[in-house]
Amino acid sequence: MQTIAQLRLATAGLMALWGMETSPPKKLSVVTTTPDLAALAREIGGAAVDVKALAKPTEDPHYVDAKPSLIVTLNRADVLIEGGAELEIGWMPPLLESARNDRIAAGAVGRIVASQGVKMLEVPATFDRSKGDVHPYGNPHFLLDPLNVKLMVAQMANRFSQLDPKSADVFKTNLQTFNATLDTKLAEWQKQLAPYRGAKIVTYHKDFVYLAERFNLEVVETLEPKPGIAPSPAHITQVIAKMKADNVHVILVQPYQNRKTAETVARQTDAVVLDIAQQPGAMKNTDTYFALMDNIVRTLAAAFAENK
Ligand SMILES: [Zn+2]
Repeated sequence: MQTIAQLRLATAGLMALWGMETSPPKKLSVVTTTPDLAALAREIGGAAVDVKALAKPTEDPHYVDAKPSLIVTLNRADVLIEGGAELEIGWMPPLLESARNDRIAAGAVGRIVASQGVKMLEVPATFDRSKGDVHPYGNPHFLLDPLNVKLMVAQMANRFSQLDPKSADVFKTNLQTFNATLDTKLAEWQKQLAPYRGAKIVTYHKDFVYLAERFNLEVVETLEPKPGIAPSPAHITQVIAKMKADNVHVILVQPYQNRKTAETVARQTDAVVLDIAQQPGAMKNTDTYFALMDNIVRTLAAAFAENK
């Protein structure tokens, strides 16, 4: 007579023969181009996914270091989530080509483009690549508008469910929880910034326009004359004149931008330079999307209160 243990062993052997896994199911391997997309994928995927971002939080998403190790990461991915609108055009195409992974090829279920469905701001009427502008299909920094985040997470839940139907309920629950928190948070953020309606700011790059649109702020100028073009002395002179004329006292820079340029302008305009990160993990207390937005809103509200 066989013991229970022997029976279990025999059953496991048969299941393995039939290709039925007895080991824990494989998690979906999700790769995102930028850390903000990774933070959102973690919220929706939870324990059913493994998430990795290609770019570091302190890297400019337009100019990521295309290390060969990223090819291996892309080769093993079940899902690739990109910002789209040519945000990654400067570094991703050769990596993707070398990775030779049909699961994440353009048009595959495993390829998610965040810009899909987003109402893009600043779409140029005509576009001349020779001028070096890196926003040919409109402004790709749209995740600072929480309503665009809602579109993104819905798309994630949908695709993750197609690729891993047995976890569909988990993704659905995570999506509902995330959206409920987002609604509460958005109301809080709007309340915190409401007293500063129309507040004027200058940014280094055109990376805060969606935030400004959602929270009724005004981006008066950028230190870059065009997205991706380094500030020139002639342009900086214009920015200083405009800041003085419009009474602007707040300049926003991200960790990978040239803070020195911002400081030079600030000295001549009696402005403050605020370090603000758009990528979770780039600064202290910004590890999740909610923590990041809390940090941004709090920093802005404090600066506006002081520089009214
Ligand atoms: Zn940009």
